[in-house]
Amino acid sequence: MEKLEKIINLAERRGFVFKSYEIYGGVGGFYDFGPLGVLLKNKIKELWLKDILNMPNIYLIETPIIGPRVLYEASGHIENFYDRLVECKSCHKRFREDHLLKGEYGEIEIKDNKALCPLCKGELTEARNFNLMFKTFVGPVEELASESYLRPETAQGIFVNFKNILNSMRAKLPFGIAQIGKSFRNEITPKNFIFRIREFEQMEIEFFVRPEEDEIWFNFWVEKRFKWYTDILGIKKENLVKHIQSEDELAHYAKKAIDIYYRFPFKEDEIEGIANRTDYDLKRHMEFSKEDLTYFDEKTKTKLIPYVIEPSAGVERILFALLCDAYDEDEVPNEKGKLEKRTVLRFKPAIAPVQVAVFPLLSNRKPLIEKAKEVFGIINNSSIIVIYDETGSIGKRYRRQDEIGTPFCITIDFQTLEDNTVTVRDRDTTKQERISINEILDYLKDKLKI
Ligand code: ATP
Repeated sequence: MEKLEKIINLAERRGFVFKSYEIYGGVGGFYDFGPLGVLLKNKIKELWLKDILNMPNIYLIETPIIGPRVLYEASGHIENFYDRLVECKSCHKRFREDHLLKGEYGEIEIKDNKALCPLCKGELTEARNFNLMFKTFVGPVEELASESYLRPETAQGIFVNFKNILNSMRAKLPFGIAQIGKSFRNEITPKNFIFRIREFEQMEIEFFVRPEEDEIWFNFWVEKRFKWYTDILGIKKENLVKHIQSEDELAHYAKKAIDIYYRFPFKEDEIEGIANRTDYDLKRHMEFSKEDLTYFDEKTKTKLIPYVIEPSAGVERILFALLCDAYDEDEVPNEKGKLEKRTVLRFKPAIAPVQVAVFPLLSNRKPLIEKAKEVFGIINNSSIIVIYDETGSIGKRYRRQDEIGTPFCITIDFQTLEDNTVTVRDRDTTKQERISINEILDYLKDKLKI
């Protein structure tokens, strides 16, 4: 099996990610997150928040998913947010023109001046624009005035709150408004597991700056965000790439953009984009709403329209990158000392969805079970994410935890009943240490760096 297939298989088997509506055959581009997937997503969001809210001038908000047509006329999404769609006249498979041109389906054959389908060699249609926004109507009447859209980015909810934050928080430049929330894009070809999906979660910051300071802050955010992936999430540096967007890659609002790419097993591609959106959005919303969205600069006693630096990251793509980065196979000795193959997710301990597992050595000895539940209770009362497991041999229980990346397994054995110590087994070295139950919380917190 290819590495990618193994990762997808593990993610589905162990409760990270499931296909949505699978009993009805599934719907392309939609995925459910199982118990471990939700824990991991929460960790990603928590660490993102912690990192940015450390700065004194970032304000967190939450705005609706559905927005009126005028919002997306102002933002330029109705006019510009499309992909070029090409369809095969024979097999009716649809492609993004830019993906065909980039060679994602191999070299495209041309016959009689017509491009041929890379799958069935049928004739391809001319490319046409396909808007990626999902349309709906607010209220009972389906008319232009009630036409609305599911947001394709969380950013527009932020721009329309610029004045509210200025006034209510007395914000001073430079400052940022941040939001985490669902976004929707009716992607032509959702693919590569959860890499390209139609409903996903974004973590975005719109960082407002003086126009002349845009370059400084752009570079600041590129470095800060890159460091978050390596230092906080523990993603290997050699698997990350900074990609400078070319003129034809730039979105309609951007002056400059650098993407952070992860080297996925299928190809390297974007997990976060940092864009200089200039004053495009505020100006457009001023024009369409007729509201004054300028900033009064106390220093110069003049009005200005700030520039915006936007770091925009996708939670699911980061989760996928974390799974790929952590996936490993090695050999470790089993209970009889014989080497056995194992699959292990080498998450950084602080990011692991489950951080500690507690086992009684045997599942048919009441005193061991009672003690194990007591230890589980002590750890569960802290902020550490812990699970209890008593089924199967200890070896099997270790393998189950290795496979989901649990960094520490605690076993309660007969010695525990005598001296109140437990064994703590390290996922990566598989070495065990005996620790007193009285010290277990401090020991774990130190190891988990929390
Ligand atoms: P792509 O070129 O891959 O379609 P994009 O450049 O349009 O992506 P942005 O508009 O920069 O993406 O969105 C910011 C972030 O939101 C991306 O880095 C990604 O993590 C996430 N994202 C965007 N589209 C999707 C999607 N269809 N599925 C999952 N995550 C997405």
